[in-house]
Amino acid sequence: MRVVKSVSTMQRLARNWRRRGVRIGFVPTMGYLHAGHVSLIQRARRIAGKNGIVIVSIYVNPAQFGPAEDLSRYPRDFDRDWQLCRQAGADVIFAPNDAQMYPGQGEGRYSTYVVEERLSRSMEGQSRPTHFRGVTTIVAKLFNIVLPDAAVFGAKDFQQAAVIQRMVQDLNFPVKIVVAPTVRETDGLAMSSRNKYLDASQRPQATVLWKVIQRAKAAVKNSSRPLAAEKLRRELKAFIQRQPAARVDYIQFFDAQTFEPVRTVTGGTHIALAAFLGNTRLIDNGTL
Ligand code: AMP
Repeated sequence: MRVVKSVSTMQRLARNWRRRGVRIGFVPTMGYLHAGHVSLIQRARRIAGKNGIVIVSIYVNPAQFGPAEDLSRYPRDFDRDWQLCRQAGADVIFAPNDAQMYPGQGEGRYSTYVVEERLSRSMEGQSRPTHFRGVTTIVAKLFNIVLPDAAVFGAKDFQQAAVIQRMVQDLNFPVKIVVAPTVRETDGLAMSSRNKYLDASQRPQATVLWKVIQRAKAAVKNSSRPLAAEKLRRELKAFIQRQPAARVDYIQFFDAQTFEPVRTVTGGTHIALAAFLGNTRLIDNGTL
């Protein structure tokens, strides 16, 4: 497995592979990898085939963090990431630094951003106003550097996957977007690099995000009529906030295609939520 740090080297390698008809599968990450990332790399491996190339990028993208967020303390462990990438079947780790990705930022030599203007407005986009601009910009840049045939994203970040899919359609990127299922701990907590921030009392409470999705599913299943979204939302919020460390940021019921919020909840409605456990902000989602 090869580690590439320079944009120009990565782009040159990718162009050579593409010219020779080698299929490139790509998994963008911020590192501190876990079994969720591993499942995406394995999926990319299957898509690329044994003659293809699987590239994993590891880059903590400052542009997708708000000023008060956890950029400076985001967990990192390159040696462990390297092992996991190799075991999962990656061929290349692309690990650029900020100077490679945003040359001259603040000095006027970096000033171009990609903005999706519809799906990115609600939920994560509302709570984290510059987040998706950072995500679409870095993913567009990475696509131009890595030149993937296919890129794999996790359903854990459901809105992100939809925003990327829309960007790819709207800007005609020749990349197939694949969305892989959320990988969970045995108690239901969605795997996340940020779970590391949870202390021993917060960690068991964090399963409440998953529990609340199960609760919403049960409510839909046990009702013969559509449920009022606002009433269900209030009930679920109260359920979460019974955990002493938990504070709800949002709970949203919406149509998974349009991302429009719905007033009534039925089978097939999508739920997404964000909650703080202490200072740690976690997200989860599912189909009801
Ligand atoms: P991150 O490193 O958090 O930026 O995530 C990189 C990619 O891994 C994104 O496409 C995420 O949606 C995906 N991912 C993160 N956590 C999980 C998980 N628990 N299951 C599946 N995919 C995940």
